[in-house]
Amino acid sequence: MSKLSEMFGCLVFNDDVMREKLPKDTYKAVKKSMYEGKSLDSSVANIVANAMKDWAIEKGATHFTHWFQPMTGITAEKHDSFITPVGDGKVIMDFSGKELIKGEPDASSFPSGGLRATFEARGYTAWDPTSYAFIKDNSLCIPTAFCSYGGHALDKKTPLLRSMEEISYQALRIVKLFGNDDVKRVVTTVGPEQEYFLIDKNLYKQRRDLMFTGRTLFGAMPPKGQDLEDHYFGTIKTRVSAFMKELDEELWKLGILAKTKHNEAAPSQHELAPIFTTTNIATDHNQITMELMKKIAEKHDLVCLLHEKPFKGVNGSGKHNNWSLSTDNGTNLLEPGNSPYENAQFLTFLAAIIKAVDENQDLLRISIASASNDHRLGANEAPPAIVSIFLGEELTEVLDAIESGSDYEEKKAGRMEVGVHVLPKFRKDTTDRNRTSPLAFTGNKFEFRMLGSSFSVAGPNIMMNTIVADALKQFADKLENSENFTKDLHKLIKETIKKHKRIIFNGNNYSDEWVKEAEKRGLLNYKTAAEAIPHYVDQKNIELFKLHKIFTDVELYSRCEILLENYCKVLTIEGRTMVDMAKKDIFPAVSKYINVLCDAVNARKNACPDISNKPEQELIKKLSDLNASFYEKTFILENELEKANEIEAYKERSVYFKDNVIPAMESLRNDADEMELICAKKYWPMPTYDDLLFFGV
Ligand code: ADP
Ligand code: MG
Repeated sequence: MSKLSEMFGCLVFNDDVMREKLPKDTYKAVKKSMYEGKSLDSSVANIVANAMKDWAIEKGATHFTHWFQPMTGITAEKHDSFITPVGDGKVIMDFSGKELIKGEPDASSFPSGGLRATFEARGYTAWDPTSYAFIKDNSLCIPTAFCSYGGHALDKKTPLLRSMEEISYQALRIVKLFGNDDVKRVVTTVGPEQEYFLIDKNLYKQRRDLMFTGRTLFGAMPPKGQDLEDHYFGTIKTRVSAFMKELDEELWKLGILAKTKHNEAAPSQHELAPIFTTTNIATDHNQITMELMKKIAEKHDLVCLLHEKPFKGVNGSGKHNNWSLSTDNGTNLLEPGNSPYENAQFLTFLAAIIKAVDENQDLLRISIASASNDHRLGANEAPPAIVSIFLGEELTEVLDAIESGSDYEEKKAGRMEVGVHVLPKFRKDTTDRNRTSPLAFTGNKFEFRMLGSSFSVAGPNIMMNTIVADALKQFADKLENSENFTKDLHKLIKETIKKHKRIIFNGNNYSDEWVKEAEKRGLLNYKTAAEAIPHYVDQKNIELFKLHKIFTDVELYSRCEILLENYCKVLTIEGRTMVDMAKKDIFPAVSKYINVLCDAVNARKNACPDISNKPEQELIKKLSDLNASFYEKTFILENELEKANEIEAYKERSVYFKDNVIPAMESLRNDADEMELICAKKYWPMPTYDDLLFFGV
């Protein structure tokens, strides 16, 4: 297949295929259920299933699977073949409507955060007709939601779809107030920019830390780091380029709009950005993208690291979640318009977002909280743990003018009037030059930059959708009953700005001054995941999610529990891996090198008693002291891990990890890294940062 346009989407049961393969009324019924997000009735489902199966078999598929997104953050699948016995040792290829619509995987091995104890172990998956079926590894994959039999969401897709419904409903109320009666739906759109590292597979296999935890738990900085910044947008190496080419092609076949690729700031770091699409699809596509990155890397003898911080001292990887709202007739609601009404509508949505973010800083922080992302936030490479909004100078001036009641003179270009009161007219802010902001308005969308590279974008978008839906609801409740719309609208926007403008910050988010300033403004600063996550179940949040039917309180508690459990598990695995490497690799290696030095000194003393052995002796002393300290710290860490895991409740356990285990890990690492720098390379028991980052690929 040579032509890109032919290749694009060739493994997707998309609209074109459906139109071609389905009878007209079946096609219509499918489209209707896609539009309404409802499931198909069984007679229609049988016809669709049959057509899907024939199409998939034609493309070489032998199996089908419900493809879902449990709370592990990755995707899950259980493959069944199409074969059905028909007697005489013969089989036919079969796939029923029932199998398309509903699956019953055993839910008991997926995290449920206590839901399983209270409810049933069984779970079921249900086709999400808003996301097309596709073929991967000779299996027909049906994107599905995953719930318990009691109806509790056990996945990330279900609440995401709920949040999309809710924001559509509330945004529609606002859009209607501005006279846009033809709009039937509002969708949120997302374009996630994905960062990743590529390293050599053979080197990777020599590091148990990378294999078990995805990051290096030991490792000193090489003489050259990213000081020269010569990697960013640099020429792409041949092997990497071959990987990227294949990745693009495989993504295109799956209808994924991979658009740009380039080298990132750190050595061996790269980025891929797709063209944005509906949030639900963007989430599915990002999951597939991450999966394919890993798979295709293997084929090129590379390993793709999606960890947030694979190398200490080197920029980590994030994911930028570009988010906007769009009507079903294609209007971007965050695009400042040309007419006064368009701009007033834009300002209404903007005000709602400002209010939403200020009132729910905690939820945005929680949505990107993990043990691994803690390495990035506030480390001079990613936004800090403090949530704020960047609007740019021009837009901020507009808001200031509205607040103070003064006229905003848009470079003498006139101003915008809505009835009696005056709302200024302004041009779309040209560019976002501030790369330090956690949530930046970038002309016609918001870019949420706090996500870690390995995250599913579902979580952060559930939060964005829900909190903005909530603010829109409050606005709509007020404005729908207004007798003087323009006056009340102006008042509402003005009051909102006054009340919530503390969340707007256009300066350098990486600076220490901002931390102090943010504190003065009363903004939240949950520095670690352990501090942030328990606030998931604060009363305010329980009420918010219940009001908008995104999570029941049981679901919310379970999610909070899963996040904390995961935090503790990740650190347990990291800690144990460190202990293991310390005992089996590093301590013996240094010890051996010391012996070699001692032997050399002794041999020289015999051969030539009057030469100086001072350098060697100093080195022996230094390494011996460090290795002794290192040895002791290994047991301290082991002990802390044991103590931590004796604590029953995850909330307290995670605090113990943060306060005791992490410092013990860091202290152990410091000794090792110091030894690495003075130990002969030949004796160091694993590939170093130079090997991994500069010479490997
Ligand atoms: P950069 O942030 O690197 O300057 P762009 O601003 O062009 O690049 O786009 C970054 C990402 O934002 C892309 O994935 C793009 O598809 C996405 N994006 C652009 N417009 C929207 C939108 N309306 N909604 C969601 N994502 C969008
Ligand atoms: Mg960007």
